[in-house]
Formats: sequence, C-alpha cells, structure tokens
Amino acid sequence: MFASLLIFTLTVRFSLGQTSRLPLVINTWPFKNATATAWGVLLSGGSVLDAVEKGCARCEMEQCDGSVGYGGSPDEHGETTLDAMIMNGDTMDVGAVADLRRIKNAIGVARAVMEHTEHTLLVGESASVFAENMGFIAEDLTTNRSLNIFSQWLKGNCQPNYRKNVFPDPKKSCGPYKPMATMKQNTRAQHANVHSHDTIGMIALDQDGHVAAGTSTNGLTHKVPGRVGDSPIVGAGAYADSSAGAAAATGDGDVMMRFLPSYLAVELMRAGADPSAACKTAISRIKRHYSDFFGAIICANTTGHYGAACNKAPGFSQFHYMVSNPKLVPPFLETENCF
Ligand code: ASP
Repeated sequence: MFASLLIFTLTVRFSLGQTSRLPLVINTWPFKNATATAWGVLLSGGSVLDAVEKGCARCEMEQCDGSVGYGGSPDEHGETTLDAMIMNGDTMDVGAVADLRRIKNAIGVARAVMEHTEHTLLVGESASVFAENMGFIAEDLTTNRSLNIFSQWLKGNCQPNYRKNVFPDPKKSCGPYKPMATMKQNTRAQHANVHSHDTIGMIALDQDGHVAAGTSTNGLTHKVPGRVGDSPIVGAGAYADSSAGAAAATGDGDVMMRFLPSYLAVELMRAGADPSAACKTAISRIKRHYSDFFGAIICANTTGHYGAACNKAPGFSQFHYMVSNPKLVPPFLETENCF
C-alpha cells in the first residue's frame, strides 16, 4: 500500500510538464485546508488575490496551529493582536495591518487597506477603528487557550521574555521594567521554542501570469505589546511581482525583517535563479549574521516552479509546506531539509 502510494506520488511529481504547473498555490506549514480553499477559489474563477485572501482567512478562522488568528500568541498583557499583508504582483499594490486588535479577519482588513485607502500599512488601535468602519466585526480575540498560556507565563516569572538591558532582570522577573544605564553586549538569546510562533504565508499564480502573495499571523507569544513582526512588512513577510515570482517567509520575524528575504528571493528569481536556489540564498544571507535563527521561506517563479529553504536550528531540521497545482490535488505536503 505504502509502496504503491509512493510510486503514484513520484509518478505524479516527475510527469509534470511546464504547462501543467499552473495554476499554483503554495503556503508555509502543513495548513492544508488553507491551500485547498485557495485552490478552490482559483478553480472557480476567482482571482489570485481572492485565493490568497480566502486561503489565509480559512487559517485565521480555524486558527491553524494556534499561530494564526484569534486566541494565540498572547502578548505581555495577555492580548492577541494580528499582523497581515496582501500584495498584488500585477500592480504592486499592497495592503497591510499590524498590531490589529479585536478583529479576527486580519487579511480581510489588509485587503481593505489596499482597496479602500491610498496607504499601505495601518497599525494598532487606529487600524481596528478603520476595520470597524469598513464593516468588520469587533470581537474579543482572547480564548481559554490564550488565557491559559498567559497565566502559565505569569506563574513562570514571565519566561521567556524579550526585554533586555532593563531592571529587574527580565531573565528572572516580571516587569514593570526600567532601562539600565549600562548596556550589556548584544547577544541574542534563543528565546522561545519553535512552537511559540508561525505564520501562514501564501503565494498564488494563475494560468494568465497573475501573481499574489499574503501573510497572516498572531506573531510571537509573550511579545512586548506593540511588537510587529516581519509578516506585514513588504519584502520581508512576502513579496510578489508578476514579472518575476513571489516569496513568503516564516520564523523569527524580528531578525528576518532586517534582511527583506522575500524581496531578495524574488529579485534573485528575476535574475534567473531557480526558486530553491533563490530561497537558499535568502536564508544564507540571514544565517551569516544569526547562525541559529529560526526561519524558512517559500519561493515560486512565474512558470510555476517552486522551492523552499530553512535554517537548521535547535529543534528545527525540517520545514513542511503545502502545494497545489494541476497535478497535486488534493494539496501535497512538501518537506524541506534545513541546511
Ligand atoms: N514571522 C512571524 C513573526 O515573527 C512568526 C512566524 O512566522 O513564526 O511575527
């Protein structure tokens, strides 16, 4: 049974012709229902933007592994806030929200920013008010699960903790904190385990060459309130250009956003790199400075070829992502060995 399944899978994978690679949906992590939703949108004639929005919204509603949508990653105050972005690779229009409060459908609000304002990124309370004015429903994003994560954190003296150069010592005590007059050397600790954050990053391409990308996440568990990760930052969390391809990233956004890995990968594909090589170079660039950062990236070019790369870090040696194209239905789980 297993052998025949393997042969079938290999046959499917190696018989792909160039023309049968499109349309394509690809997303970070094994968030299969999100892939299937986006794929369904494309098959029923929806646009690549619709596919990315609906695919990511499915994850927001199902909370995926807890790292997307409401009820996950409570901050130092116990509140869940959301970051999301959507990008149109034809027009280079982008809509994004960061530190969004009380609204579950963050990628929907990101799309509203793109379609109902001249802006690119709205943040915090003002973004929530904008969303309410656009008809999104305000709801409490707290759940029993997020309350429990928060109370365990308080009980454990607020560990892990993202403060530094403050007193009392943030590695031992809860706040409030005051700045220390003398700075310690800037050594970045491996703060949290690999389960304390994730993001759905999604790319969709149709047969006519339209490309879109998007992200949605609740960020990093126990983050300092107001912290925004890489996901809503153009070129960091995702990037799309219908003349080159698209990329989307996941991982330690505080580090990754300093390198704009999605932008870099797309530019490398524009210059002729294949998607796997482009993804690898984007990860290598970060690795040079932060050798054990936690992160991964997915890349796709305009012909529907795709690839991924991830940095080998403690507890993270393989990265899983989902793909749908005409030969990979239902969505196919890909595994990338980190380097
Ligand atoms: N990149 C996200 C952030 O830092 C989290 C993740 O993808 O793991 O907010």
